[in-house]
Amino acid sequence: MAGAALPGRLRERLAWRVARLAEVRDETPTARTLVLDVPGWPGHLSGQRVDVRLTAADGYSARRSYSLAAPAAGDRVELTVQRVPGGEVSPYLTEIFSVGDPVEIRGPIGGWFVWRPADPEPVLLVAGGSGIVPLMAMVRARRSAASRVPFRLICSVRSPADLYYADELREAARADPGLDVTRCYTRVVPDHWTSPPRRLRPADLAEAGWPPDFTPTCYVCGPTGFVEAVADALVEIGHEPERIRTERFGPSGSSHPADTT
Ligand SMILES: Cc1cc2nc3c(=O)[nH]c(=O)nc-3n(C[C@H](O)[C@H](O)[C@H](O)COP(=O)(O)OP(=O)(O)OC[C@H]3O[C@@H](n4cnc5c(N)ncnc54)[C@H](O)[C@@H]3O)c2cc1C
Repeated sequence: MAGAALPGRLRERLAWRVARLAEVRDETPTARTLVLDVPGWPGHLSGQRVDVRLTAADGYSARRSYSLAAPAAGDRVELTVQRVPGGEVSPYLTEIFSVGDPVEIRGPIGGWFVWRPADPEPVLLVAGGSGIVPLMAMVRARRSAASRVPFRLICSVRSPADLYYADELREAARADPGLDVTRCYTRVVPDHWTSPPRRLRPADLAEAGWPPDFTPTCYVCGPTGFVEAVADALVEIGHEPERIRTERFGPSGSSHPADTT
């Protein structure tokens, strides 16, 4: 499609904007929330993502996708980035990128893996590791909209120290009977835990999720293998495939000597 033929809104979403880092919050020893000021940000839905582009002085550039971690708030957007050892982009964003520094972003991107406060169905969210990021945006959007749509969130993490937003989730679930949060640990369990570390099983999804005849919308996000296993398990316990929305956090983006897109 020629650039001139793109509808205005699409052109706006594909345009790179210069964002500046306004604030950081460490979520775990290896994951950091970046609060960015993006002048002219058009707003977004929870579940959408952005592309982030870094460009070196010699023109070398790398681009990666990151989910938006919170609902739209004027010109501010939040991302949470997990440091991938040896990665090109995430170590920079989590260790070097400093308040006041610029970065290019474009978006919002995605129209299927989204939750709108007007959606009436119960919601099941299933997160593997950093896959909680867009699901947390949905939890936060529900709270901002004072929605009473019942949410159940199941988080699978390696250890208690790997759960992002832990205090906020604990408080949100305590204060709101419409939000249930269930944790599952695959490598290290808390001291008081009664079961050994293990991966999520269909029985866990049946127990902590919704019965299929409640016709919930299910959102599953995380590494590709996790998403595929959970989506299969949801179908196995009776959920309709068309009610299961997935987002895979596999390797993303591209790197070019001089990326001009
Ligand atoms: C739709 C979408 C949304 C995403 N949202 C988020 C988000 O909110 N937060 C977040 O932290 N990441 C997110 N990611 C992943 C992110 O785009 C990058 O892939 C990640 O930050 C690694 O980039 P890198 O440049 O550091 O590593 P790279 O230089 O790209 O890769 C280094 C090595 O790590 C492997 N690798 C790359 N990505 C991953 C990964 N995700 N898991 C395991 N191994 C990997 C590569 O195969 C390679 O071997 C998302 C990906 C997609 C597709």
